[in-house]
Amino acid sequence: MTIVANKPEPIIYELSAPGRTGAALPACDVPQAKLPAHLMRADLELPEVSEVDVVRHYTRLSQKNYCVDLGIYPLGSCTMKYNPKLNEEAVKLPGFTAVHPYQSEDDTQGALQLLHELQTMLGEICGLPGVTLQPAAGAQGELAGILIIRAYHEARKDHKRVKVIIPDSAHGTNPATSAMTGFQVVQVKSDARGNIDLDELRKLADDTTVGLMITNPNTLGLFEENICEAAQIIHAAGGLVYGDGANLNAIVGLARPGDLGIDVLHSNLHKTFSVPHGGGGPGAGAVMVRADLAPFLPGPIVAKKGKRYALTMPRKSIGRVKSFYGNFLALVRAYVYIRSFGKEHLHEIAENAVLNANYLLARLKNVYSAPFANRVCKHEFVLTGTPFAEQFGVHTLDIAKRIQDYGFYPPTIYFPLIVPECIMIEPTETQSKESLDEFADALLKIAEEAKTNPQLVKDAPHTAPITRLDDVQAARNPVLRYRG
Ligand SMILES: *Cc1c(COP(=O)(O)O)cnc(C)c1O
Repeated sequence: MTIVANKPEPIIYELSAPGRTGAALPACDVPQAKLPAHLMRADLELPEVSEVDVVRHYTRLSQKNYCVDLGIYPLGSCTMKYNPKLNEEAVKLPGFTAVHPYQSEDDTQGALQLLHELQTMLGEICGLPGVTLQPAAGAQGELAGILIIRAYHEARKDHKRVKVIIPDSAHGTNPATSAMTGFQVVQVKSDARGNIDLDELRKLADDTTVGLMITNPNTLGLFEENICEAAQIIHAAGGLVYGDGANLNAIVGLARPGDLGIDVLHSNLHKTFSVPHGGGGPGAGAVMVRADLAPFLPGPIVAKKGKRYALTMPRKSIGRVKSFYGNFLALVRAYVYIRSFGKEHLHEIAENAVLNANYLLARLKNVYSAPFANRVCKHEFVLTGTPFAEQFGVHTLDIAKRIQDYGFYPPTIYFPLIVPECIMIEPTETQSKESLDEFADALLKIAEEAKTNPQLVKDAPHTAPITRLDDVQAARNPVLRYRG
């Protein structure tokens, strides 16, 4: 299959016809009131359209978007797995949708029980018994976690600690979090195997160290082989170890971060535990801590007193980081996901996520260059497009754009920063072998095209309604309104 330039059909916006309407109202049988002139605007040219015009317009727009319900969404680090419809059935239950945070505890025992059970399950999964469900995103969980670590040092009157050590492969939110908390960020290099460099770490860790922020498996998709030793080095220097558990996909049910020496961890429930995410929608970044740090947790958290569930504020809490107890319906979805596997089967998530990633890596590594192909990857892996860039002038961005022509969402690109022309692929466990093969076939075909017809790849996408955006302008000066 060679897809060449098919001029994409234009998106039609101008559907208005004078006098057309979507509602037929009965004749007015009361005196018409004059509306206040200062509230009236003559410049609002509202479209005059019928109901079917509106439905078709929005349905047409929705079909321009790719979604995880259509196919593989291999966005490394973002964990775009399929979100089971069972979760949606659960959150539609009236007891969940109609509950209000100002209702009394007596009225909301069921909702509080669910939150309490979720806290307990996450504590067990992570091996860190103190849990707050408050943060609304991974980045907010990180901030809460680092504030907890700051409060811990302050409570010990240990005021000279100012630096947070972060590996060079880290997600950008890690240094941002540390800087926002007022700490200095010190980078530690990765070694040739993709692990944190222990000799470097030993040189950096001292009595000014707040702690280490570490992602495991790291963003290269590799298990940090020296995680326990790294934790020992930090603990010996009096610091704490913060785990970025945005993606627990590779280890859930198999390894517990608490057992690996991590003291504080956040987990993106909207990644590992299948809550729809992206586009800034409601997320959930629960934070788990070892028992002696639980008094610092942001609250309220749910405690069980006898048979009754109650909201409590931990004794030395850093305060609230979000209203009430977090994004409740996101938490319900995560709860349903965990319960639908059950304790006995939770590890299958990790096993299949890792198997799928290794299968894809095996299919691609001889054609795309894989910097760490000598190691088993975890839930994701990185490739580099450098050979294509050097030989044919085809860059990773071009390859990612070309993937769209084959009907797939592109992987994460140019991250982590330490791999040039990086392509970062995370298939997740919810892909069949067939869908992995289709995706691999497309990437192998594109590698062939890069050699034989590089311009075809450089001009991609040829089939998308919008081709190449100016990413920088789009982020800095977004145009969010349509003007006809
Ligand atoms: C997604 C992610 C984050 C940030 O999570 P948000 O919910 O987007 O704020 C942090 N670290 C890693 C490794 C991630 O993949």
